[in-house]
Amino acid sequence: MRIHFAEICRIFDLKRSGGVAYGVLSGYAVSIRKRSGVFLVTVAARFPDEESKKAFLADFEADRPLTKYRLMDYADRPGLLRFRFAAVPGVPGYIRQLLEGIAPFLERYGAAKADVCHGCGKPVSPEADWILADGMAAPMHEGCIQAMRINENRRPEAPRDRSFVLGLIGALLGGVLGSLLWTGNLLLGWFPFLGAAALGVLATKGYHLFRGPFGNGVSFAAVPVAILFSAVGCFNGELVSLCQRAHNFTPDGWKTAYAVLIANLDPFVNFMFSWQFLLNVFLGSVIAVIAHILTKKHWPPSDDPLHTRRLKPYRPSRSR
Ligand SMILES: [Zn+2]
Repeated sequence: MRIHFAEICRIFDLKRSGGVAYGVLSGYAVSIRKRSGVFLVTVAARFPDEESKKAFLADFEADRPLTKYRLMDYADRPGLLRFRFAAVPGVPGYIRQLLEGIAPFLERYGAAKADVCHGCGKPVSPEADWILADGMAAPMHEGCIQAMRINENRRPEAPRDRSFVLGLIGALLGGVLGSLLWTGNLLLGWFPFLGAAALGVLATKGYHLFRGPFGNGVSFAAVPVAILFSAVGCFNGELVSLCQRAHNFTPDGWKTAYAVLIANLDPFVNFMFSWQFLLNVFLGSVIAVIAHILTKKHWPPSDDPLHTRRLKPYRPSRSR
């Protein structure tokens, strides 16, 4: 039995943004993400000085945490503590025990709780935005977030290894695959527009796999591709069904079917057919574009947990 990420979010009443769940647990800012069968639990923990952190770690280590909490391992980095758990049944219980277990120690050694800004260490309102940096989420003052942005801007430019042209190529390849699935889908007689949905998803994923730039560029590539390949999918579908009806899948059969199809697509030759075709392309496009929008929403790589970004304030949905 596998533990799903959504379940962890629900159990701990965390807010979810992209691949990261975050919130306040046992008074501390905690974020959880899942990566290849492992839950990474990150606690924002700013100690007043290195001595306090060392003392905390010594106490923590003495507690035999690996066996006590079934931890795979843990690491301390500036401003945070990271714990790795195997995603096995019972892991929510171990995570809870860990957080409840370390909270008194964190408090004893003066680690900053979730009611102070992770930037400056001064009290912060629960309405404040959070920042996600290095896979760690913590609340911060608006000014402190701005200051961080400025620092980021001053950093040397990241290598520009993403390009729209590459993304577009990826989207086109996704479109080709999608239109093939569409045709196959028609052959198998499944829900007719399942292929259209696959097309929208594949065009979007293709864009990202080929490293198209983050942001809305994906729509400029995936939407035209979705419409174009809806037409291709419909065309191939009709072609296949003509061959099927003629029981002729030989090259000559295809040629004949192609000629018949092209002729019938002329509204002056077959008005009803050409309108029906256009309507199918339109419906397919709408479904493909909806699939694109849903995919874009749930799978944007700008939600890379290591990508520094702003998160909405955390408000527990349950009172505790
Ligand atoms: Zn601050």
